[in-house]
Amino acid sequence: MPLHRSWVESANAPDSPFPLNNLPYGVFDDGYGARCCVAIGDFVLDLGSAAGRSMFPDAGFNKDALNDFMNAGPGIWRRTRNALTGLLAEGSQATATLADMLIPRDRVRMRMPFRVAEYTDFYAGRNHAFNVGTMFRGPENALPPNWLSIPIGYNGRASSVVVSGTAVTRPWGQLKGPDDDLPRFAPSARFDLELEMGAIVGQPSHGMISVAQADEMIFGYVLLNDWSARDIQAWEYQPLGPFQAKATATTISPWVVPRAALEPFRTSTPARERPLLPYLQEPGPMLYNIDLEVGLAPKGKAETVISRTNMNQLYYSSAQQLAHHATSGCPMRVGDLLGTGTISGEAKDARGSLLELSWGGKEPLTLDTGETRTFLEDGDTLTLRGMARGDGYTIGFGDCAGTVRPAVELPDWARE
Ligand code: MN
Repeated sequence: MPLHRSWVESANAPDSPFPLNNLPYGVFDDGYGARCCVAIGDFVLDLGSAAGRSMFPDAGFNKDALNDFMNAGPGIWRRTRNALTGLLAEGSQATATLADMLIPRDRVRMRMPFRVAEYTDFYAGRNHAFNVGTMFRGPENALPPNWLSIPIGYNGRASSVVVSGTAVTRPWGQLKGPDDDLPRFAPSARFDLELEMGAIVGQPSHGMISVAQADEMIFGYVLLNDWSARDIQAWEYQPLGPFQAKATATTISPWVVPRAALEPFRTSTPARERPLLPYLQEPGPMLYNIDLEVGLAPKGKAETVISRTNMNQLYYSSAQQLAHHATSGCPMRVGDLLGTGTISGEAKDARGSLLELSWGGKEPLTLDTGETRTFLEDGDTLTLRGMARGDGYTIGFGDCAGTVRPAVELPDWARE
């Protein structure tokens, strides 16, 4: 599919993340309250104002979250997207009216795009699961016996999800080294990132759903950084899985790229190494060809790109994960966020966490500044980026960034 040209000239640049083909949804604040918008070139378009002029039905765009719009359903999603595509296209009759509703993107602050109903994080990257398993259990038993049959996940904390730009404070927790008898209470010394994508559930479920139905329920995708304290995780994770290690923060990109914008980039999950049960089989390609990268910038210094990979490295799609999530009868809700799991490629520089990049801290990474890293230092800024590259255009998500703040002072009552 070629570039759809817009009368908003900046949207037609081949490297603009926000061409007319994208139209991602977000929530902005220009000092007059938070409202829903789409991005087009260097601008945001205030959706409430446009709907107020009867350009398309108002689905709750003057709210500070996309939940009402998502709740309105796929018919309204399609109508709104079709209307916006026409209104913003080159040759549109609405140029003069809409020009008043465009606000330069650098003059607004992006907020959390939706209220996170619940947050589940999966473990669907085969290379990631293999690398982590190799470090913890050796290469023979790297993949747990269930891994090729079931999308493994855990229930995370919706309250901890933050939008790009929010600082992340290094957590305190129980830490225990391999030779320690007892745990200590200390700031995490192995604070890490996880490069993931997040799928946002836009329609509710009551009971079992097929993978095809699950795909239709997904409103769109964001970039997601599942901040992880590896030392806290190592001590707490058996037998019930991650808990405080992953409850500090999860950062998402400010823009939700609708599924419709990603259609041209659909690609299949890899060949199955073991046949899947019928309920998990996919009726068509359910992943997307999206280039991903991670940048690390020490405080006040230039950034080094430490990893480059692609969403196509996942073994299970978000649609499969959602279908699996609902098998128990677990009700899925509008605003549920599903993290894909860390996306690592096969190559060493395609790994999506510092745990893998530094091989458990044994092989420090050298940054372009000359500094080395095993895990994150205070003041480090982590930026995730995603790009689907079309014919003369790029679909972007905006930066998914966060800076690590030093751990808080320990309260007196917690001291030795
Ligand atoms: Mn994760």
